[in-house]
Amino acid sequence: MSEQLTIALSKGRIFKETLPLLAHAGIEPVDDPETSRKLILDTNQEEVKLVIIRASDVPTYVQYGAADLGVAGKDVLMEHGGVGLYEPLDLRIACCRLMVAGHEPWSEQAQRLRIATKYVNSTRRYFAGQGLQVEIIKLYGSMELAPLVGLSDLIVDVVDTGNTLKANGLKPLEKITDISARLVVNKASMKRKHACVQSFIDRIAEAVRKQEAAA
Ligand code: AMP
Repeated sequence: MSEQLTIALSKGRIFKETLPLLAHAGIEPVDDPETSRKLILDTNQEEVKLVIIRASDVPTYVQYGAADLGVAGKDVLMEHGGVGLYEPLDLRIACCRLMVAGHEPWSEQAQRLRIATKYVNSTRRYFAGQGLQVEIIKLYGSMELAPLVGLSDLIVDVVDTGNTLKANGLKPLEKITDISARLVVNKASMKRKHACVQSFIDRIAEAVRKQEAAA
């Protein structure tokens, strides 16, 4: 690769599960974001940098070209709307489900439902699709608490094992959609750095195929 490439990633599961894919493309970070305080990580390839940001900020960095590429969960991309982004690849990592959860099946509740979530847009779309007008309460974390303290009837959140719901006495009620992490690309970078970006996408796609075949 000769062009500069900046790749936006978030700490935690996405970073850990993206590392083997990057390694297949010959890219290895010099620092570990879990221990380093640096927000821009160098890699073994001088022209490739990783920016470590909040998961919900990844689409914005890529949209505005502050990063050429990024890895973001479909949940985050659905909230963002995808403006200014291509989404060429399902990485099949960080898999989970966007779910409605609560104490009771929501269809059995009479009054206008209150839903606590950080996924305001996806939640509004989902319930509108069911012909239901709901009151949405925006939260930034610990959604599971809201029904326990009477803040909401239901929550919409991502669920993996379901252990967090269970530990708080809640049940998964409806699946809105399956979620996995996607590679996203800035539209201008795709044009200006086409050869470099396309070769990166091809190598990551090959890594995803190999990982799938080995699973
Ligand atoms: P679990 O208890 O395994 O169902 O995990 C649920 C908790 O982990 C929720 O609080 C979610 O916010 C978070 N979580 C699980 N999977 C993901 C994912 N793929 N992306 C982001 N957050 C996740």
